[in-house]
Amino acid sequence: MTATVLDGAEMARRVYAELAPRIAALRDAGVVPGLATVVVGNNPASRVYVRNKVKACADAGVHAEVHELDERCTQDELMAKVAELNARGDIHGIIVQMPLPAGLDAPAALQSVALAKDVDGFNWANLGALVDAHPQLVPCTPLGVMHMLDYSGTPVEGRHAVVVGRSNVVGKPMALLLIARGATVTVCNSRTPDLAAHTRTADILVAAAGRARLVTADMVKPGAVVVDVGINRLPDGKLAGDVDYAAVSAVAGAISPVPGGVGRMTVAMLVSNTVRAAELRTDA
Ligand code: NAP
Repeated sequence: MTATVLDGAEMARRVYAELAPRIAALRDAGVVPGLATVVVGNNPASRVYVRNKVKACADAGVHAEVHELDERCTQDELMAKVAELNARGDIHGIIVQMPLPAGLDAPAALQSVALAKDVDGFNWANLGALVDAHPQLVPCTPLGVMHMLDYSGTPVEGRHAVVVGRSNVVGKPMALLLIARGATVTVCNSRTPDLAAHTRTADILVAAAGRARLVTADMVKPGAVVVDVGINRLPDGKLAGDVDYAAVSAVAGAISPVPGGVGRMTVAMLVSNTVRAAELRTDA
């Protein structure tokens, strides 16, 4: 079997096409959706992510601006910047780019973003809404994975989904979205004694551990849909997912590549959440 490729670039284009009339309607009403990103320090990976987000916004007709703070900035200065952006009427979404330099309180910074502008979906109230199956602004990566499942026609209800990873950013919200859609969900973590015993029973396998090629072909049920969230930098500088792509492609029914998979959809969902936040504010 050769797996169908879950092409994140192609699916992201579909997201942007679906957003275009909504963005046009907002603009017709005099509203340009606006995203502000706060970056502290000089993390090279963050710079790449932020550049990608700004480009995606610009291409979609969403205003994007980046506020760079010095590596040595204080918590008060960071909170003051977020407060300034919270107060601006032309900014509908705010991101505090992670990771922050050591010494800064990341949870406090994330929770200081106004609920209505929390386009990363990390505010505890937004996460709570997800627990209650009333999603408002949903974390971008798991939301992107759900779109990939839907766009590929993957049934979720009644299927067994295994999520490898339990972070607040990916694993937990991913599990909540799958539960809300009627999947039977198993969530694994680094202490799970026999990971393969779980992954082998998955109809849908979402790998989000941050461990290069953790998921090998013998860990995958034939025909399973495998979504690889992981982004790992190999010693040779290349990127690899959490899944051994070449080997697993021969077993799975569908698989997402890295790069060109979930990452593209994460950025598209950020643009989508910014548009959603603008619509909610303007009752569009
Ligand atoms: P994280 O906060 O480090 O969480 C990783 C999770 O994986 C933890 O829950 C950890 O378990 C679990 N884990 C680690 N090794 C494991 C193993 N051998 N077996 C089972 N579980 C294991 O990372 P994250 O923020 O969730 O991100 C996960 C990966 O996705 C990273 O590679 C990250 O770069 C990538 N990512 C990609 C996108 C995208 O757009 N494509 C977006 C976000 C993140 P414990 O809790 O027990 O430690």
